[in-house]
Amino acid sequence: MNLVIFGPPGAGKGTQSKFIVNKYNLYQLSTGDLLRSEIKNKTELGTKISSIINSGDLVSDEIVGNLIEKFISNDNFKNKIIFDGYPRTLTQANNLDNLLKKYNQKIDLVLKLSVSLATVKKRILERRTQENRADDNEELAIKRFNTYEKSSKPLIDYYAQSNLLKVVNGEASIVEINTEISGLIDSMKGWLWMIKQYKYAGNLKSIILWLE
Ligand code: AMP
Repeated sequence: MNLVIFGPPGAGKGTQSKFIVNKYNLYQLSTGDLLRSEIKNKTELGTKISSIINSGDLVSDEIVGNLIEKFISNDNFKNKIIFDGYPRTLTQANNLDNLLKKYNQKIDLVLKLSVSLATVKKRILERRTQENRADDNEELAIKRFNTYEKSSKPLIDYYAQSNLLKVVNGEASIVEINTEISGLIDSMKGWLWMIKQYKYAGNLKSIILWLE
């Protein structure tokens, strides 16, 4: 099972991803974390992207595409990934589909955490005192929220069309969101199980017919 979680900065993507990782034994692939670690380690890429991240803009589709392929191609993570903060543009969503196809995988569920700008501002200011992230201040929070709103609109339509999208009320408490997300994942897993049984029964029927 591969999941995508998206929402504006401060929506609780990281917190909810960690909860899902623990409960369902998945791996969290946070492009934001990967990019921040490049900056922290002062790599060539880190130097190139630090000003982009610190100004609240998006890093190029190509850079993040390369980062995620390393994960998707790794057999240890096969069908066990929660994509946190990726994709953020329609191009990235297409790249993700192509990459998953290349490694014989797919997305099973897309969770969108919905929160207002007022909540985002409040949470980002709280997080700033805990995590000390350079891009967590009110002005940048507004900019990142607007960037998200603009770039995510086509993504939402894209995943809604393929019936993968579930919208979660990100204004609720952490525990309430945990419960809602668990319900969605469990029911999706139930469907996957039924489809598997159906295919299995179909194969069994063909074998019996063949034996007869
Ligand atoms: P996040 O931790 O997801 O809020 O991401 C922090 C910052 O990293 C964003 O504001 C972007 O500058 C950059 N970033 C993270 N993920 C992506 C992505 N998928 N595409 C482009 N830029 C990204």
